[in-house]
Amino acid sequence: MNDEDNIHKIKQATHIIHTANNLVAFTGAGISTDSGIPDFRSDVSGLWKRADIDPLEVASLFGFRRNPQTFYEWVRPLANTILNATPNSAHEALVTLETDGLLTSVITQNIDMLHTRAGNTNVYELHGHMRLTTCIRCYHEFDGVPILEQFLMDGLVPHCPDCGGVLKPNVILFGEQLPVRELRQAQEASKKCDVMLIIGSSLEVAPANQMPIIAKRNMAKIIIINLEETHLDHMADVVIHARAAQILPQILTHLQDVV
Ligand SMILES: [Zn+2]
Repeated sequence: MNDEDNIHKIKQATHIIHTANNLVAFTGAGISTDSGIPDFRSDVSGLWKRADIDPLEVASLFGFRRNPQTFYEWVRPLANTILNATPNSAHEALVTLETDGLLTSVITQNIDMLHTRAGNTNVYELHGHMRLTTCIRCYHEFDGVPILEQFLMDGLVPHCPDCGGVLKPNVILFGEQLPVRELRQAQEASKKCDVMLIIGSSLEVAPANQMPIIAKRNMAKIIIINLEETHLDHMADVVIHARAAQILPQILTHLQDVV
């Protein structure tokens, strides 16, 4: 795509966002790659490519219960990256949109907490997060970040101070149900929005990828900003194949011009 094409599409997207009554953002790994967090489901990622480890086994609820040490060792580089990452200009743009009264909520597939850390207040984290950790025996919850930091230092699987059970980060593992409340809230937000801004998601993971379809069915306009093509590009009103951190600040600048 040439620059002129991009500028035209950015203007189209800006117009749609400007006239929105209820704008909802739906984000995936692509919004966080500029914060240094690899898309850990994509082909290029080391985490998912190791020949000796099957993530579907290690990062499953079954695998975690059977061998938490292997899970923690596997998740160590990702946890380390996430705890040290900071929000980028795309996350910040979504905060500005919320502050300006345009954006009502963010639905995310990311577990990196960068939307809440950037300052968005209405965030539905469909795949969980690392903010909390839960004992798999007594289900008590504890602050997740200090527990992960401790693990990164000593490499010991964290245990519950109350009952001695293993602590599991509140991220949704394979074979685990999505958090019911977040899922319902996200579905509701998708139904009610009149514009859905999809950022950095390949839209391949169900049921999270149902949100744009729910939005479209309810006559919402769809904007997709993603580096690669998605299988929902054909139903979008505007599709921009570029980095979110590059495009969103430009949309903000154009918004200021039209106000
Ligand atoms: Zn416990």
